[in-house]
Amino acid sequence: MALTPPPALDDAGLLSQVLCPAEVAYEERVASYWSNTAKKRPTRILRPASAEELSRDLVTLVNARQLFAVRSGGHSMPEGASNIEDGVTIDLGLIDQIVFDKESETVQVGSGCLWNQVYGELQKHNRAVVGGRAGSVGVGGFLLGGGNAWLTAQRGWACDNIVAAEVVLADGKIVSANRSDHADLLQVLKGGGNNFGIVTRFTLTTVPLDQVWAGILVTPKDTIPKICRMTMDFVTKIKQNTENNLIIVIGYQPDLKDVTAIVLVVNTAGVTDDPIFDEWKELPRITEMIKTTSLYDLSFEATLPKDHYTSWFTLTFKSDPRIMLKASELHDELVASLKSFMPDGDFMSQCTFQPLPMIIAQQSLRAGGNIMGVEDNKSDGILFQVIVIMKTEEQHAFAYAQAKGYVESLKEFAQSIEGGLFRWLYMNYADKSQDVLTSYGPENVKKMREAANHYDPDGVFQKLCPGGWKLPELDD
Ligand SMILES: Cc1cc2nc3c(=O)[nH]c(=O)nc-3n(C[C@H](O)[C@H](O)[C@H](O)COP(=O)(O)OP(=O)(O)OC[C@H]3O[C@@H](n4cnc5c(N)ncnc54)[C@H](O)[C@@H]3O)c2cc1C
Repeated sequence: MALTPPPALDDAGLLSQVLCPAEVAYEERVASYWSNTAKKRPTRILRPASAEELSRDLVTLVNARQLFAVRSGGHSMPEGASNIEDGVTIDLGLIDQIVFDKESETVQVGSGCLWNQVYGELQKHNRAVVGGRAGSVGVGGFLLGGGNAWLTAQRGWACDNIVAAEVVLADGKIVSANRSDHADLLQVLKGGGNNFGIVTRFTLTTVPLDQVWAGILVTPKDTIPKICRMTMDFVTKIKQNTENNLIIVIGYQPDLKDVTAIVLVVNTAGVTDDPIFDEWKELPRITEMIKTTSLYDLSFEATLPKDHYTSWFTLTFKSDPRIMLKASELHDELVASLKSFMPDGDFMSQCTFQPLPMIIAQQSLRAGGNIMGVEDNKSDGILFQVIVIMKTEEQHAFAYAQAKGYVESLKEFAQSIEGGLFRWLYMNYADKSQDVLTSYGPENVKKMREAANHYDPDGVFQKLCPGGWKLPELDD
């Protein structure tokens, strides 16, 4: 694809703030990407402050056949998803208005907001949204990839709670997609990524929320077989106890020089003694930190280290302790191979397990449906992710290949169990090599293709915006 040299753009009367390499603000925006793998150096960074500015500038970019990337919070892991080396990055960070409407109990959120900004504003009204757990994650990518939240068992994926989206289309038109207008566009945005337009504002349902009870238990490695069984029990029980949630992290801790199981627990109603956690509280522990807090404060708790070379892969499988235990055993092998390549202390690796009960799909359908096809799952499941975090690029290249091999082995094992492996892959946890959009199923691929043909007939978001997962071809 021919690139227009940046000076042509500089003379094009762009309305957005334009940042050039070496300018302080440019360097700050590049540095603010979460993973080092995303810190590419675009020829220019455009920072529109409104849908109107973006609309005019997008037309200019498209007319110049300029390759571009779209960035909200900059937390996605696959290389080039929201940044680009030989092209322009559209950075939505200045579109960050948040307006709560008391009457409709909805909130309008600029797509460049971070989740902690949203929680901070909504807690003034004792309300919250189904949003990111880490407050530094961006609203745009999180919602367009689905959005797995503490409130998901109760309210569906974060994207299920989008009432309307203001979208700048490839031809510069600004449309509002909601249940009555452009409903087909609204549906494909819920999990379909950056394939249809650039969202500038989301209107989200809010929920009453005051305090939450939340924290972590760190338990020794020998509890893992028991935790595998307990996790499956939890997944079964969660449908009657949807305000509870947990994440299990089996990970290598460089400071302890050992693998531990970390259990993150939450009750979003602030109940401190829900019986669903009784057995969990009896686990032997290395440390424990659980408290009553706000969703806003919780969103600042450290999750993963920033400014490293990080990759992740995902799978979904049946809620079956044998698969979870296998994931843990294979993780031991992954740790051994990472240790053979780099000094202990230079890496972290984790596999995480999150409940994926059938009830989530029911909540989605009730809210109008998304495009991810999770309702095709035949049983309660587990949303799985493996994460490798390195200090250097060379270490990362090695670890990436190891993690990829790890996921293939686990996939094979899950496949060997009847109904063990699910088709669906979760965009927000996937690696670029994983065929996320095909995993939504043929009907949903067709809907996404039809919407793309209608709203972007020239295929601008397929050809000029290479980052993220692009639409698969339709089978005849
Ligand atoms: C520390 C950490 C914690 C996380 N926790 C969770 C979690 O609890 N649950 C979960 O589901 N995920 C979680 N994630 C994953 C996260 O949801 C994804 O990485 C998501 O893509 C990040 O969104 P972003 O806006 O920050 O990313 P970006 O990198 O800015 O964007 C991601 C993708 O979305 C596109 N995009 C962004 N905004 C727009 C827009 N307005 N219009 C069109 N396209 C757009 C970009 O082009 C890119 O392809 C976490 C990630 C990190 C690093």
